[in-house]
Parts: sequence; structure tokens; C-alpha cells
Amino acid sequence: MDTQQPQSLKDLQARYPYQFSDPKLGIAMAKGWVVVFAQLCSDVDQVLGPNKRGFHWTQVKEKFGSARFYFEFEGREPDLRMDIQTPEGVLTQLEPGGQEALDNRDHGFEEINSEIRRLALLAEQATRRVCLVCGKQGVQDVDGGYALVLCPEHKAQRRRPEGLPPFWDKLRDTKDG
Ligand SMILES: [Zn+2]
Repeated sequence: MDTQQPQSLKDLQARYPYQFSDPKLGIAMAKGWVVVFAQLCSDVDQVLGPNKRGFHWTQVKEKFGSARFYFEFEGREPDLRMDIQTPEGVLTQLEPGGQEALDNRDHGFEEINSEIRRLALLAEQATRRVCLVCGKQGVQDVDGGYALVLCPEHKAQRRRPEGLPPFWDKLRDTKDG
């Protein structure tokens, strides 16, 4: 594991440029999630080993209050995913991609793809429990009908006049801001 924790999306992009090579990549996530995402990027890098197989993130976004990490391997069909909000929580349905390419089965690839899929889902679950602002352990806090996951400190700050500091971090190609 790296000793120095990346602090922002830009740090992560600098450390793992290949993971952020998609020119259409859009990332919008809470600053508090960078800790989780940094661990995910590092784990993905380890799983891939020397052969990166064209791995890259295609989208990172917020959905139902937690993060979604979408990825692709160059030249492979991405997984089809559907997230459904149910009374019991969010249900994720997955249809693994790349199944049509049965003639050139690459078992090493299947293993890597499913391991990265597993890591991404674990990271998504982890973002349900970290403060959006600072990344410390948090719980869901509902105020004004709007739920956010916050640590005790930021929960208190939310109720003070100054409110929460801006906590969304975006990363995308600068062409259209
Ligand atoms: Zn916090």
C-alpha cells in the first residue's frame, strides 16, 4: 500500500493515469469519498498487475447517496448494471459484459474482471458509511428532507448558520469545463 494518501481526484489521476484515460470520463464525487476511491484505484492496480488490459473508469457518480464506480476494459463490452431503490435498500443487478466473446475466452481476464467488479461494489458500499465532507465514519443524516452521510462533526456543522463547506469534487476534460 502507498504510504502517502492521495487527497484529491487530481492526485489519483497523476498516480494512475491509465485509469483516467477515457476522454469522455466524467467524475463527480464527494471529497469524503476520495479515501475510498484511492484505495479502490490502488487495489485495481494490484489486481491488474503489469498488464493493465486497457482498464479505465468510464464514470464515477453519486446515486442514492453513495458512489457508483463504472469501468471498462478497452475493446470489451462493459457490464450492464441496474441500481434499483427498494424499501430494503439499493439493489444492484449485474449482467456481466464480454459474454458474447466466447470464441476468444480469456480466463485470466474473467478472473480479473470479476475481482475488480467485486472491489468496486465493496467500495460503493463503503461510501454509504463515510462522511461526504471528510471521509471519516458517518451515518445518514436527514435534514430538510435531504439525506446526507455525515460524521458527528459535520452533522453539527450542517445545522450551524455557515452550513457545510462545498464537498463535491469533479474531474473531467477541461474542454467544456
Ligand atoms: Zn466529516
